[in-house]
Amino acid sequence: MLTASASAFRIISYHDFAARRQHIQTGQNGLIALKAFHSGEMITGFHAGTIAATPTYLTVQTGLRRHITLEPDFLQYINHSCNPNVFFDTTKMQLIALRSIEPNDELTFFYPSTEWKMSQVFYCKCGQMNCLGEIKGAAFLSAEDRLRFRLTDFIVSKLAKRAARIKRA
Ligand SMILES: [Zn+2]
Repeated sequence: MLTASASAFRIISYHDFAARRQHIQTGQNGLIALKAFHSGEMITGFHAGTIAATPTYLTVQTGLRRHITLEPDFLQYINHSCNPNVFFDTTKMQLIALRSIEPNDELTFFYPSTEWKMSQVFYCKCGQMNCLGEIKGAAFLSAEDRLRFRLTDFIVSKLAKRAARIKRA
């Protein structure tokens, strides 16, 4: 088990409101807050660095066959959690605090909140009580989990279209 003690990490770089840290043993990167945010607050705006038709492990989905790399690019170090504290609003292109965030808190988002089908399925070890385990994308969420998380407008519309298709069939 990894412990989250401060000494297990080193700071790689500072970016305005956040710092990129790296776990000394695993080399895994993460982004921690340098200031406090209240629930619902916009942390930063973001925009597309590159736009591609297919996803990679670094991209965020903003539409059908539309996958962007993030600018500012340090946002790519925001890890997944099944109990996330930030949300990528890909309509407004704003990073939003989902609850209050304190300095030194790691910023995390729920990958299926933006990704319909992930390019790389992974097994989550976030340790949260409601951890989903296998993370594959919004297309694979249970009805209960779809309601539990804030999802992008794109994902919500994909789910609605799929539900309409199933109803017609
Ligand atoms: Zn998890």
